[in-house]
Amino acid sequence: MFKKKNEQKPEGGASPVETVKAAKEAEEARALRENMDRISHKILVLSGKGGVGKSTVAVNLAAALAAKNFRTGLLDIDIHGPSVPKLLGIDSEKLTGTEDGRILPVDYGNSMKVMSVGFMLSSSNDAVIWRGPLKYSIIKQFLKDVTWGDLDYLIVDSPPGTGDEPLSVCQLIEKAEGAVIVTTPQDVALIDVRKSISFCRQLNMPVLGVIENMSGFVCPHCGKKSDIFKNGGGLDLAREMGVPFLGSIPIEPAIVQNGDAGIPFHNAALENTTPAQKAFSDIVDILCKRKGEKQ
Ligand code: ADP
Repeated sequence: MFKKKNEQKPEGGASPVETVKAAKEAEEARALRENMDRISHKILVLSGKGGVGKSTVAVNLAAALAAKNFRTGLLDIDIHGPSVPKLLGIDSEKLTGTEDGRILPVDYGNSMKVMSVGFMLSSSNDAVIWRGPLKYSIIKQFLKDVTWGDLDYLIVDSPPGTGDEPLSVCQLIEKAEGAVIVTTPQDVALIDVRKSISFCRQLNMPVLGVIENMSGFVCPHCGKKSDIFKNGGGLDLAREMGVPFLGSIPIEPAIVQNGDAGIPFHNAALENTTPAQKAFSDIVDILCKRKGEKQ
């Protein structure tokens, strides 16, 4: 004789469906923790606004760490505008998986592994139209199912603002090192940095520091600096909000040229001599020293 439906759920207990769902969630949480525990330092790169150079900083930070022989991962969760593949010149790569359902990151050089939504699109002109829950689920897959292996650093390039993507990452990575916030010097950009800092505080995500990008232009001929977008706002804001200031990167036409050509401007193969390269080196050193890593 069949049991009545309500007899299948003991009073105060879970139904079989709920039990299976809870077991699946527990298994997923375990797999996520296991994958993330193999990565020593997880750093989120955020910005209040788009176009301030956040992806450029994320890509060059990862490339600089890899050049120091740190095993580095770069995860691009800028779902609506994934620019990491283009900035690294690997935009023709496609997502590949293993038979057991894991996702293989794209190797960049010897010490860097990259994953981006861009690898899932058939063309870079494709628009991704996903709602919050789907974004959460793909970000979870990138953290849980990508075979990152043992890494020293995972740099996560998040879209601008305080939307679903940074929120998902903050919720999914239990022990993140913290966030680096990129801004430009103008008031319109700085207003949104305050929001990014308060977002981090609400989610207990430590703020590793603020970087002021596009901070003046040093003339390559006479060496004189012109403050095209003002300068110093990032430092003032960091002081006002009580967070570290990591440094200023000037405007340099070579950064655009390298970005368009898919070459990190902070490339070990390039001489580390321009004002932007030097400024960036100092920022990477500050971040590494903060962790007590050997240079
Ligand atoms: P975001 O990720 O904040 O939207 P990107 O990193 O995509 O911004 O940068 C936007 C554009 O600005 C790119 O063309 C990039 O090459 C350029 N850029 C970034 N930083 C600098 C800089 N310091 N000097 C000159 N161009 C820069």
